[in-house]
Amino acid sequence: ATPTAVMVGTGVGASQGVLIKGGQALESTHKVNCIVFDKTGTLTIGKPVVVNTRLLKNMVLREFYELVAAAEVNSEHPLAKAVVEYAKKFREDEENPVWPEALDFESIIGHGVMAVVRNKEVLVGNKGLMLAQNINIPLDAEEILSETEGLAQTGVLVSIDRELVGILAISDPLKPGAREVISILKSMKVKSILVTGDNWGTANSIAKEVGIETVIAEAKPENKAEKVKELQAEGNVVAMVGDGINDSPALVAADVGMAIGAGTDIAIEAADIVLMKSNLEDVITAIDLSRKTFFRIR
Ligand code: ADP
Ligand code: MG
Repeated sequence: ATPTAVMVGTGVGASQGVLIKGGQALESTHKVNCIVFDKTGTLTIGKPVVVNTRLLKNMVLREFYELVAAAEVNSEHPLAKAVVEYAKKFREDEENPVWPEALDFESIIGHGVMAVVRNKEVLVGNKGLMLAQNINIPLDAEEILSETEGLAQTGVLVSIDRELVGILAISDPLKPGAREVISILKSMKVKSILVTGDNWGTANSIAKEVGIETVIAEAKPENKAEKVKELQAEGNVVAMVGDGINDSPALVAADVGMAIGAGTDIAIEAADIVLMKSNLEDVITAIDLSRKTFFRIR
């Protein structure tokens, strides 16, 4: 393509809210045959909400949620925000509830949080967190978890003083149109892959809903980038679409990194293309634009 064609291409992109950072990004995009999608905030709306609380122990819900919120209010994770939002329902008498003090707060990437609240050790996170901390997961909890995951919801486990006391079911629905985007990409001979830090059960359920066949779950940020490199080594030209801090290594590793505009600054910086409207459809807009720019000339 001529420099003028590339300029026109990036200009058209910009006018449609697809910010292409330079000619190389526009050029690489027409060769993409495989796209790795992050789940939370990318394929899903990214505003998770608590839909169910299952207590395994006799406890007052309000008190349970005070401990949980006190720990989670220190975390930036979307799941933590959902938990704190939900906890406010039990404190409706106050406009801005003050949570009990959390001491020794610790955030464990890909796992959850821990803190000491009202002299109790509170752990909030996934199964991996409980296993790493040697917290026993009883059979009824396992059953609740697989039920939750089958509904494409994420189960967040809570232990207090080393005893598993509750499971929160958190739902983060697919973005409208997500399924259609995946099916259009398929018709464009572009294969979609789901990579997420979430557990296998939930990841598989979401993948099924959206029409993706290849899934990698329980992925750490470096695993996301590794998957991209592995696909490249197999001869694919790979795009990565993500929104989170934990997606940035993969966004950098990909031939084309695409960040969701509503995502974190770090992801936006790491990306070659920014989807300003945060629409998944714009993944197709970008590929179309690149194909038009680079197929027309030759
Ligand atoms: P992703 O954003 O792709 O789900 P993360 O690495 O951010 O990946 O998180 C992986 C998993 O770790 C989450 O799905 C959740 O189960 C657990 N997790 C992480 N942080 C928290 C938190 N603050 N509260 C509860 N669970 C968490
Ligand atoms: Mg995400």
